[in-house]
Amino acid sequence: MPSIATESRYDSMVYNRAGRSGLLLPAISLGLWHNFGGVDPRENGRAILLRAFDLGVTHFDLANNYGPPPGSAEETLGAILRRDLAAHRDELVISTKAGYRMWDGPYGEWGSRKHLITSLDQSLKRMGLEYVDIFYHHRPDPNTPLEETMAALVYAVRSGRALYAAISNYTPEQTRQAAAILRTLGTPCLIHQVAYSMLRRGPEEGLLQTLAAEGIGCIVFSPLAQGMLTNRYLTGIPADSRAASGSQFLRREQITAERLATIQQLNELAQQRGQSLAQMALAWVLRHPDTTSALVGASKPEQIEESVGALQNLAFSAEELAAIDKILAAEHD
Ligand code: NDP
Repeated sequence: MPSIATESRYDSMVYNRAGRSGLLLPAISLGLWHNFGGVDPRENGRAILLRAFDLGVTHFDLANNYGPPPGSAEETLGAILRRDLAAHRDELVISTKAGYRMWDGPYGEWGSRKHLITSLDQSLKRMGLEYVDIFYHHRPDPNTPLEETMAALVYAVRSGRALYAAISNYTPEQTRQAAAILRTLGTPCLIHQVAYSMLRRGPEEGLLQTLAAEGIGCIVFSPLAQGMLTNRYLTGIPADSRAASGSQFLRREQITAERLATIQQLNELAQQRGQSLAQMALAWVLRHPDTTSALVGASKPEQIEESVGALQNLAFSAEELAAIDKILAAEHD
C-alpha cells in the first residue's frame, strides 16, 4: 500500500533561503549516501524517507555513485517516489551529483562535459525522473577547464535536466571562480555542499565567508560527523553502526579515547541545554545565518525524528559557544 502523507507535515519545519536564490530548503535535509543501497533493506529506507517527508523534510540528496552498488540509492529513491510520493513530486527538491568515479574508462568521473551530462542522464533514468532540482559537480577537477565544467552544469539546466546548478568540495578560490563563470553564463550557483561539523571546522577559514559574499547557499554534509556527534559511540561501538560496518569513511580506529572524551563532554553540555548531542551538533551548524540546511543521514526513522527535533532549540549563549570551543580545542592540545 502506498503511504499517505501527513497533513501537518509543514507545520513545524523551518525553511531557509538558499543564498540569494528563490529556493527554500528545509533546515534539515536527508542524504541517501548510506542505508539506501541495493544491499540495504528497502523497507527501512522507505520508512526513513517517508518519516522525513512527514516531518517537513522536502529535500533528498543523492549522487550517481551512492549505494552500494553505485547507482542503487537512486534506484531506491525512484522506487519510493513511484510507490508513495508520485503525487508529491512538486513538493520535493531532489539533487544528484557527478564527479566521483562511477564507471570504467576515461568518462566515468571528474568534470568533463561528457561525464557530467551522460552521468546525469543515467541518474534520471535510475530515479525515473524527468529532471532533478539541483545538479552538483561533486568535486573539483584539476585537469578540466573550469569553464567546461560550469558550461556543462549550465547546459544541464538549459536542457531541462536540472533546475539549479551547484558545486561541492570546492576551495574558496575555486568557488569564487566557478561562481563568476556561472554568473556570466546566466545560471547562478545555487548552493555549495560543504563538509562541516564541530569536528571539522575547516570551512570557517574562508569558505563560509566566500559563500556569504557570493550569495551562494550553504548545505552542510555530515554535520553529525557520520554518527560520532550522537549518542551512538558513547559507550562503545554498536554492531549495527557505521563504524562497525567496515566503512572506509568511518573506521573504528577513528573513535579514539581522546575523541570519546570530547564526545562525552559535548554530550554533557547538550544535556544541560535539554537536547541530545545530535540535536546540539545540528543546532551548532545551523547557528550561522548563512547555513541553508544541515544534510543528515539516518539508519532508522527514529534518527531523523531526533534530528528534526534539533529545531526546538537552535539558540546558543556566548558561554555555551565558548564552552564548545574549549572542549574542541582540548582534543588537539
Ligand atoms: P551524518 O553526519 O548525519 O551521519 C549520519 C549517521 O549518523 C547515520 O547514518 C547514523 O549512523 C548516525 N545518526 C544519525 N542520526 C542519529 C541519531 N539521532 N542518533 C544516533 N546516531 C545517528 O551524515 P552522513 O555522513 O550520513 O552524510 C549525510 C549526507 O551528506 C549524505 O547522505 C550525502 O547526501 C551527503 N554527503 C555529501 C558528500 C559530498 O562530497 N558532497 C560527502 C558525504 C556526504 P549509524 O548508521 O551508525 O546509525
